[in-house]
Amino acid sequence: MRRPFIAGNWKMHGSRTENAELIEGLLLGMPAEASVEVAVCPPFVYLWEAARLLKSSSIALGAQSTCAEAVGAFTGEVSAAMLKDVGCQYVIVGHSERRALYKEDDALVARKFLAARAQDLTPILCVGETLEEREQGLTDQVVSRQLNAVLDVAGVAAMGTAVIAYEPVWAIGTGKNATPQQAQEVHAHIRAEVGARDANIAAGVRILYGGSVKAANAREIFSMPDVDGGLIGGASLAADEFLKICAAAP
Ligand code: 13P
Repeated sequence: MRRPFIAGNWKMHGSRTENAELIEGLLLGMPAEASVEVAVCPPFVYLWEAARLLKSSSIALGAQSTCAEAVGAFTGEVSAAMLKDVGCQYVIVGHSERRALYKEDDALVARKFLAARAQDLTPILCVGETLEEREQGLTDQVVSRQLNAVLDVAGVAAMGTAVIAYEPVWAIGTGKNATPQQAQEVHAHIRAEVGARDANIAAGVRILYGGSVKAANAREIFSMPDVDGGLIGGASLAADEFLKICAAAP
């Protein structure tokens, strides 16, 4: 069965001191035999230190993005090999903030997905519609387009070692989470879309929900059959809140 997975996306938050306190809080509060898998995704510059602090713990490390290129003259970029080198196991690709603010299109997201896979990093592929797209009834279409852009180049087998995150843009950082039913509908659609290519891969791939998840709503959202955990933004920045969310995973 699919092991529940909770990942904290710290976005551009934190400092060396704050990160150390947050990680210490997580290590103190995380049950030794948790059935849920947990990861945190700090900003690039803090990955190495976070890796050191998390060493021999059960909490995995992820990055928030990667360069699509392997190596070379790409000023300001960070390669998947570098992420691997500093101890990352996961990398988020296609987050809506990267798509919207840094103009990452489906093709670039697919190349980043491949770059991550080439280094044996597990991509966390984010998909999700804007409010306007939802109101126009385009949710399934948008999510399918984002998903198929990756499936077309990476192949469905690649989803055997990837994670998908459904993050409706209108729910991110707004305090307005999707209802469990809304999340379930889109998660089921995503699983069916993967299933049209390979039923076994579809049954095994973990699909996380992201968008204003907090301790107060996590259990209800995670209880849906196709929701396998969460990608948590703001609520991952406080150890007690994030631990409660982890404890709410099925
Ligand atoms: P919030 O949990 O702050 O809404 O952010 C969700 C998100 O974007 C995680 O990647």
